[in-house]
Amino acid sequence: MSGKYDVVVIGAGPAGYVAAIRAAQHGLSTACIDAWLTPGGEPVFGGTCLNAGCIPSKALLESSELYHRAAVEFAGHGIQIGNLALDLDTMQGRKDRIVRDLSGGIASLFKAGGVTGLFGRGRLLPDLKVQYTPHDGEPELLEADHVILATGSVPVELAAAPYDGERIVDSTGALEFDKVPARLGVIGAGVIGLELGSVWKRLGAEVTILEAMDKFLFMADGQIAREAQRQFKKQGLDIRLGAMVRETEHTADGILLKYDDKQGGHEISVDKVIVAVGRRAETAGLLDPLAGVDVSERGLIEVDAQCRTTASNVWAVGDVVRGPMLAHKGSEEGVMVADLIAGKVTEVNYDVIPSVIYTAPEIAWVGRTEEQLKEAGVDYKSGTFNFAASGRAKAMDQDAGLVKMLSDVRSDRILGVHICGPLAGELIGEAVLALEFEASTEDLQRTIHGHPTLTEAVHEAALSVDRRAIHAINR
Ligand code: FAD
Ligand code: NAD
Repeated sequence: MSGKYDVVVIGAGPAGYVAAIRAAQHGLSTACIDAWLTPGGEPVFGGTCLNAGCIPSKALLESSELYHRAAVEFAGHGIQIGNLALDLDTMQGRKDRIVRDLSGGIASLFKAGGVTGLFGRGRLLPDLKVQYTPHDGEPELLEADHVILATGSVPVELAAAPYDGERIVDSTGALEFDKVPARLGVIGAGVIGLELGSVWKRLGAEVTILEAMDKFLFMADGQIAREAQRQFKKQGLDIRLGAMVRETEHTADGILLKYDDKQGGHEISVDKVIVAVGRRAETAGLLDPLAGVDVSERGLIEVDAQCRTTASNVWAVGDVVRGPMLAHKGSEEGVMVADLIAGKVTEVNYDVIPSVIYTAPEIAWVGRTEEQLKEAGVDYKSGTFNFAASGRAKAMDQDAGLVKMLSDVRSDRILGVHICGPLAGELIGEAVLALEFEASTEDLQRTIHGHPTLTEAVHEAALSVDRRAIHAINR
């Protein structure tokens, strides 16, 4: 395979494959190269998100939550189920099937949309040439008018806890356990630590999460983070803050995790360790030094606000560039770049990117936190509504948490919405739209919400901003 394309995309994760599909929709001849191989050695599209990230983690979160609810909640609904048993093989098989269906779906979308999908590695050479090396094949040369780099990210390694693929694993390994570890240590109480820690806790593991920062979920609104921390504590997740892992020792009994906090040195014995201390951009082997693409000290490909790199007609999107490492952020950058290549006027609104953590309760937010508004000296007003007063949340037996809304005192424009509660990741959609349309709390106050739905909590939080909530005491 050698040839000339309008666009060559390197990487078929949610940033790259979306860019490729959009470029083809514009009538541009497009090829998309991806190097991912399954543990069985099968090449697949979809990148981290589909194969080892968003999708498999959500499949396990869903299954484990059902198992947990069957164990602790069903009896309260009057549903007796006798002996509850876990069949982890089936649970993992279901997850694998979902992943297979969705990654196969990308190949079908490429075919239907006219994208040439190529399995193997891509390397950017000078003058918009791309070296494509198929798995088990000889390198070939592709030429393009535009190249989009979308090679994503990989887990950060920790010198104090090097991966051994067996007892000390990254997030990919943590999605593949074939047995529930009795004692699980997690390093990092970020998004992955909380989500995967929750999965294995619900399935029966005793989970200890060690977090270096003193503050829990420092990127979230403080009130929401405190509420989430309270709920996780109630569930028995042992989250230790200000804990720096110093060393890990392999013992006959498992792994000895040695860490320091303000009180001094500590040790815990665990069977498995998940290291979840962040991800770093993946550019290994991607860039010929003469290609002209600058990489920052942190390893990110340097881009402007429209994802142009320092080389002409070379673009970069997704986890490999600045900004939050989120699938939907990468996808929107992919769409933007394909549109720009096609000559359209477009942009990504980086101020309105939702964040969702799929724990129970879920945590989701968009816009600015109360702490950020205070620091910026913005005159804001705030309203909250507890799910404890939501009929739907009560009926669902999931009434922990709250919705919090922040808006500008003078204009009433909504500046941030923060949710800890049932299906927060779905509820945040309304808030994202509100911020995108620059809505005021009055707009949401006047919007009719179905009853009884969880969305009423968003409505009531908007009313609460002006101390007009109906189903709460306004203070
Ligand atoms: P990737 O998805 O990493 O894809 C990059 C692709 O490029 C890969 O297939 C890689 O093999 C390929 N590649 C790399 N180098 C080359 C090369 N030289 N040649 C050819 N191909 C190459 N985000 C969310 O928004 N929501 C979630 O719920 C969520 N859950 C997550 C759960 C976990 C456990 C993890 C690890 C991540 C999660 N993320 C989530 C983050 C999300 O997966 C990433 O933000 C997203 O996948 C980034 O997309 P991308 O296309 O930039 O890169
Ligand atoms: P993260 O940045 O969310 O969290 C890493 C945590 O590890 C931080 O709290 C950090 O303080 C802590 N940490 C760092 N070094 C440490 C050390 N030596 N000892 C103890 N703690 C330490 O990273 P992550 O959880 O690995 O996730 C990686 C990326 O994947 C994130 O950027 C996230 O956006 C994305 N992701 C998103 C979702 C989602 O959207 N639901 C789910 C999973 C992952």
